[in-house]
Amino acid sequence: MSQTMTSADLRARNLVRLLRAVHDAAAPFTRAEAARLLGIGRNTAAALVAELEQARLLHEVPAEAGGRGRPTTMLVPHPEGPLAFAVDFREDTWTLASVELGGAATELEGGEHDRTPRVFAEIRAAVARHETDRLAVLGFATSGPIRDGHRLHISHLGWDEVELGGLIGADWPTTVIDNDARLAGLAEARRGALRGRGTAMHFHIDFDIGGTLLIGGDAQRGAHNIAGEFGHMPLTGSALECMCGVRGCWSLDVGANALVRRFGARPGYGEGRELAREILRRAENGDTEAADALDANAAALGRGLGALANALDPEAISLSGLGVDLIRLRREVIEAHCAEGLMAFRRTDPPRIVAGTVGEAGPLTGAAEIAWDAILTEEWVRRRLQDA
Ligand SMILES: [Zn+2]
Repeated sequence: MSQTMTSADLRARNLVRLLRAVHDAAAPFTRAEAARLLGIGRNTAAALVAELEQARLLHEVPAEAGGRGRPTTMLVPHPEGPLAFAVDFREDTWTLASVELGGAATELEGGEHDRTPRVFAEIRAAVARHETDRLAVLGFATSGPIRDGHRLHISHLGWDEVELGGLIGADWPTTVIDNDARLAGLAEARRGALRGRGTAMHFHIDFDIGGTLLIGGDAQRGAHNIAGEFGHMPLTGSALECMCGVRGCWSLDVGANALVRRFGARPGYGEGRELAREILRRAENGDTEAADALDANAAALGRGLGALANALDPEAISLSGLGVDLIRLRREVIEAHCAEGLMAFRRTDPPRIVAGTVGEAGPLTGAAEIAWDAILTEEWVRRRLQDA
């Protein structure tokens, strides 16, 4: 590979850095701030902005009046610029949204489904109904791991090794796909409670527990794209056999499945969400049996988090789904059991355990992030400039 970088290469790199900065920013910034952020001169920044405006990627708008000095402009996504579509596919529902550079999302359509892979054709039809020339890429969040990026396993629906190629065909727009728990974590790292944290973890607790390790704002995927199955580690010493084939998984003790099992419901088939909510309500209203079940769930959660913190040393851990309720109702239980699971020398500085702020929108937000990641590349920007 050539070691020399031409001025065209450098310009393409800076164009992507500028777009990336606008996309990642919590609030719009000025051209002068862009120059500072990228470590480039003001004239260079002006030339980059002009090119991106020409390619309908960025737009300059007058800043809010108020401060002293010269009026200035803010850099915002171009109103006719590219769009990413994002899909959140869950065990029982799906949602389609359109997402601008910078992350502003508009929900387009959604619904329940019949729990068979036929739903992918329904989603494709919805994409076609909303497709415009501006659509550049589609990000897809699905429950269940996606082995090697193309084999889908959703045990709650009985989907085993379903080939994605048969579901997302050549007639789809350019599509990138990832697991919902990982994408919820990515959303927290990019736009939520974990923004700016170098090493962090996120756990989404629904029927069971899924999660991801986040380093420098990106989610770890592993050699076969199936990293992050923290719920299938024997962290709490259960003797039960899990549907995954392992005995004693953490997921058997944390989440809605563990709650409903104590009340005689059949866990493990994506059923019982209502009963789990009912148990939470009863615990809040002082029902002892429900309160015990909630305590056990929170204790098992804390215990597992302590063990994982020993291994991975996160600065902060965010939780979504049922995890938010567990923090709200049983923070002390979670923290006490986390501390118990931490090696003694770590206990003075335990990881902060926080509720995610992206919340329910996590998988959809993360799906939009991987969609934009797929196109915010030098190659794509070069092509876009050529076509302008
Ligand atoms: Zn398991």
